[in-house]
Amino acid sequence: MTNPATVIDWRLSPGRRRYYWRWIVGLVICLAQGVAWGQPDPAAMARINRDMPPLPRIDRAAVQARGLGVHRGGHLTLYSDVRDTALIEDLIASFDSAVPLWCALFQVPTADAREWHLIGCLAAARTSFADTGLWGAEIPDFPAGYNRGYQIWMYPQEGNYYSRHLLLHEGTHAFMQWFLGGSGPPWYSEGMAELVGLHSIENGQLQLRFRPTDRSQVEHWGRPKLIRKAVEAGRRHRLEGIFQFSNSAFRDVENYAWAWAACEFLSSHPRTESIFSRLVGQASDTSPRFNQVWRRECGEEWNSIERDWQFFVDELDYGSEAPRAALTAAEIAPEAEGIVVRLATDRSWQRTGIAIAAGQTVEFQVQGQFQVAGGQRPWNSEGGGITIQYYRGKPLGQLTAALLVESDPATVAPPITATVPIGLGGRVTFDQKGELLLRINESPARMDDNRGQLTVTIRTPH
Ligand SMILES: [Zn+2]
Repeated sequence: MTNPATVIDWRLSPGRRRYYWRWIVGLVICLAQGVAWGQPDPAAMARINRDMPPLPRIDRAAVQARGLGVHRGGHLTLYSDVRDTALIEDLIASFDSAVPLWCALFQVPTADAREWHLIGCLAAARTSFADTGLWGAEIPDFPAGYNRGYQIWMYPQEGNYYSRHLLLHEGTHAFMQWFLGGSGPPWYSEGMAELVGLHSIENGQLQLRFRPTDRSQVEHWGRPKLIRKAVEAGRRHRLEGIFQFSNSAFRDVENYAWAWAACEFLSSHPRTESIFSRLVGQASDTSPRFNQVWRRECGEEWNSIERDWQFFVDELDYGSEAPRAALTAAEIAPEAEGIVVRLATDRSWQRTGIAIAAGQTVEFQVQGQFQVAGGQRPWNSEGGGITIQYYRGKPLGQLTAALLVESDPATVAPPITATVPIGLGGRVTFDQKGELLLRINESPARMDDNRGQLTVTIRTPH
């Protein structure tokens, strides 16, 4: 027996019919969008910046025929012949997480970047992209990564950290191009991409513009080592020299290290910090004016900034900070028994204002104790230093003197004499003339955990 209530009436009312039609049309639209999902929307991108090169015409059949993987994120669609899923997921997630951080760093409202979407190519071999429209012959050969308009091209680097760094470096270029209308002259463009691309991930949280204190935090990045090797080989640059780097200078990876170091220094040196932060507003200017304007703002102090840069470069390491490496004035009190210097132990060379003549003998009396290493088991030291650890061949923490000498403004090395160990005190005869400088013997990059002062009494008997 059939219950009349269960008979289905297949004839639809006009209302129902409309309802189903709408549903079907909706589904078709969704499917059509699904094909294009994750691709940039040129209209939305033009609202961000209308002066960018056009969206590439991608030949989907060729992409498929070449067997390229297409990986879609919120702000990046990555085409790749690399089969490392973990790396690809990491890159896409990092890029998406970086977008609000770029917004914050470059003072762009996050809402403005909601529809910003780029196309990435991660290539084991460039030839895998032939005929796809993704990698035309007009794209120059490059060793690691490249950005233009909508696109980022890159080769996987050694280790996930460095691959991510490269993507964030190219992403920084792209962000600046799209949102600031440019990224300044080559030194600023590359230096900022390096500075901002340095990152850390802690508890799943990405942080850009991370200042590494140890090379294990930024595996295979290696810029400080490149500078160290260049300095050892006698290749140093004044800031003015770095400002003149052309685009082709960046075929040499060492110049990325110089551009990074310049941006790191200028962004934290007390005299240039605020001027440097305002350069973002000039990023669309790639003419020589960019350098002239900001260099003029430093005025008379330019020579002392260049000198601090030389000190910074001379001992550059992971953890180096411009304010600690710069030349500063010591705290001085003239007293009956001589000039008394209260020497800070957490900064590099300190000026005493004492002029020394060639052949002059100076008597030092040293008092006090300070912490030379922090952490779980802090180490204390007196002026003699500790002989468990050495820096530049001398005990760590040992009181050391040198003379600041007059130099040609075009010089590239710090204008000081060889260092003289003072230790717990005694008499020293200097064979050159100059202003007496003091500090404890330690890399300025490792001075941040030092605590306390040394009291140094200085007599200059005639
Ligand atoms: Zn670059």
